Amino acid sequence: MATHPKYPLVFTPLDLGFTRLKNRILMGSMHTGLEDIEGGFERMAAFFAERAKGGVGMIITGGIAPNHEAGGGGKLSTPEEAAQHRIVTEAVHAADPDVKIVMQILHAGPLAGTPACVAPSAIRSRIGRHVPNELDADGIEKQLADFANCAAQAKAAGYDGVEIIGSAGYLLSTFLVEKTNTRTDEWGGSFENRMRFPVEVIRRCRAAVGDNFIIVFRIPAMDMLEGGMSGDEVIQLAKAVEAAGATIISTHFTWHEAQVPTIATMVPRAAFAEVTGRIRRHVSVPMITSNRINMPDVAEAVLAAGHADLVSMARPMLADADLVKKAWEGREDEINTCIACNQACLDHTFTGKLTSCLVNPRACNETLMPVVPATRPRDLAVVGAGPAGLAFAVEAAQRGHKVTIYDAASEIGGQFNLAKRVPGKEEFHETLRYFNRMIAKLGIRLLLNTRADADMLAAAGHDEVIVATGIRPRVPDLPGIDHPKAVAYIDAILGRKPIGRRVAIMGAGGIGFDVATLITHAGPSAAVDIPTFCREWGVDFVNHPRGGVTGVEMHIEKADREVVILQRSEGSPGRSLGRTTGWTHRLSLLRRGVKLLGGVTYLKIDDEGLHCQVNGEPRLFEVDTVIICAGQLPERDLYDALVARWVKAHVIGGAFEAAELDAKRAIAQATELALAC
Ligand code: FAD
Ligand code: NAP
Ligand code: SF4
Repeated sequence: MATHPKYPLVFTPLDLGFTRLKNRILMGSMHTGLEDIEGGFERMAAFFAERAKGGVGMIITGGIAPNHEAGGGGKLSTPEEAAQHRIVTEAVHAADPDVKIVMQILHAGPLAGTPACVAPSAIRSRIGRHVPNELDADGIEKQLADFANCAAQAKAAGYDGVEIIGSAGYLLSTFLVEKTNTRTDEWGGSFENRMRFPVEVIRRCRAAVGDNFIIVFRIPAMDMLEGGMSGDEVIQLAKAVEAAGATIISTHFTWHEAQVPTIATMVPRAAFAEVTGRIRRHVSVPMITSNRINMPDVAEAVLAAGHADLVSMARPMLADADLVKKAWEGREDEINTCIACNQACLDHTFTGKLTSCLVNPRACNETLMPVVPATRPRDLAVVGAGPAGLAFAVEAAQRGHKVTIYDAASEIGGQFNLAKRVPGKEEFHETLRYFNRMIAKLGIRLLLNTRADADMLAAAGHDEVIVATGIRPRVPDLPGIDHPKAVAYIDAILGRKPIGRRVAIMGAGGIGFDVATLITHAGPSAAVDIPTFCREWGVDFVNHPRGGVTGVEMHIEKADREVVILQRSEGSPGRSLGRTTGWTHRLSLLRRGVKLLGGVTYLKIDDEGLHCQVNGEPRLFEVDTVIICAGQLPERDLYDALVARWVKAHVIGGAFEAAELDAKRAIAQATELALAC
């Protein structure tokens, strides 16, 4: 096969001896929640088949438990359960016989969420619900047999392999570190003993499935915990994993209880790849690296640097099923890039909702949201080029409608143009690049610097108007709200008004936190600079101290500002932030000295500052600036005017409902409407 001109390494097949991977990009394992619901296997089949058609070389499913005590959603231990999995494997192989589908075996150990959960020692995880039951000799034997049985059932179900997860604070990894393994028998004590169980799991699985079956082992390459594994121990484990019969070693970074962000948007792209590269020098089986690799050029660079043989992209495959195909065809500017927000994937997983994607709400909903050509193509006007209007326009144009977008601003993006200025949200540029490209490709008429009104739209003769005019910031009714000290968040973000040294932020929603991040920031953004990220989060990729964490006081460059974030409601500010990312935002602001205060009643703003009442006591915040981040109201005058004129109109995004609006809801609502009209 000819070498690919732009991504020669990505598109070099990998020979595994008994089989071959057609390229170097695999879809990493993600729990979707489909494993747990009625009809879930059919939906999973459609989800994975779409990714197989999209060109990925290998797919690894979400975690499947080998037995009841392993917890998790789906389980595979019986031939009846294997028959259900066949729905998935057959769909993937039918979509492309060259694509490998590998099932992850996940034994959650102390994180299994059941009182029957087990572990090497009866030590509760910081984030576990139960104290696990300590495994005795018979218990250990049972777990080993269950792993082997699960692997054999996976083979019977038509999978090309299994991935065994040996990281993240799940069962296998709890054997590896002294913090969770205090045993004194042959399964604890020395590192040789502590790694015996994971290694034996591989040996048993290999014996159960024979030679010609892929076994991927996910190694805790850097567990991000004080007292975690040392670099030497990781290498020792990798060698033992290879000797025990693993076909491929995959590197995983972090335990779930660690307090270092490893995949959120403030993590630099491919930050962890060099850790994989160091381990790779000590083994001869291929190695997979992962984490924040979201575009093909990043994957190519990682391979070119010799950091890995294969690159895992998990969330990017939610965002765009055709990512690999688009890279192959030189259409990478059409990739809908994962922005690492976690809002519709991991946040959903950890709150018991089905996984999907903020930028692609069809992910995991393929059977419910089919894309079919419009039966009656129409002339549609979209007013507002924020996320809602853009998502509608692209989806509707793809279905064959004639679309015109009007926006009063000089560029598309709406509030994403504010979001992209916040350090840590650099990926938002990618979403705007994607929409700009799709507007050009689909021939959507784009009228910028054009404020649309009902007269103009009625005269233009469109069949229907989609009003996506967004929001207007709420202005609290407060004496002194027009004082020069009071600054609207839009003016603060755009730098249109000066911000003083002492600042009170009124409102502790996502925007209040983002504004605090922006105005306390100095130096390079940690999200685009690996050394800064390491300094800010106390990580050492080079020397690999235990767990990869230095344990020393972290160094954060910050602006010379005193900032307090306030909210009226009681309780800790920041509750509305994302489940899996909120803690990172809170922690990094606290480290910059930002104060958070709830239970505040605002009284007035004057030359002295912001006057409030806190716990019934008067309190003056002597600040130079009060930035108003007090939520938003729908901007729907245009919609009302159109309805009054009997123009057929729809309203979406912030214009529909501003309360608790985020881009996830705006894009999902827009996409649903575009697929229905
Ligand atoms: P908007 O983005 O507000 O777009 C409305 C558009 O309509 C604007 O471009 C405006 O110019 C145009 N318009 C209005 N009236 C007219 C008219 N009459 N004629 C022509 N054009 C008109 N959400 C998340 O999910 N995750 C985040 O991390 C996140 N971070 C954010 C950070 C910041 C700093 C801000 C401000 C917002 C953030 N959001 C985030 C919120 C998110 O941006 C909004 O939910 C989303 O933009 C709403 O989309 P929309 O299309 O409804 O409206
Ligand atoms: P928000 O989350 O609704 O927060 C608004 C804040 O204003 C709250 O703290 C609220 O708390 C306060 N408030 C409401 N009414 C007020 C009033 N009359 N006077 C004074 N304070 C008032 O909204 P937002 O911060 O504007 O963000 C908008 C949307 O963008 C959010 O829904 C969010 O999902 C999204 N966003 C997300 C992120 C992210 O990282 N995921 C980042 C930015 C924005 P009290 O009522 O307790 O005072
Ligand atoms: Fe990526 Fe956000 Fe989509 Fe998750 S929800 S896949 S993090 S863009």
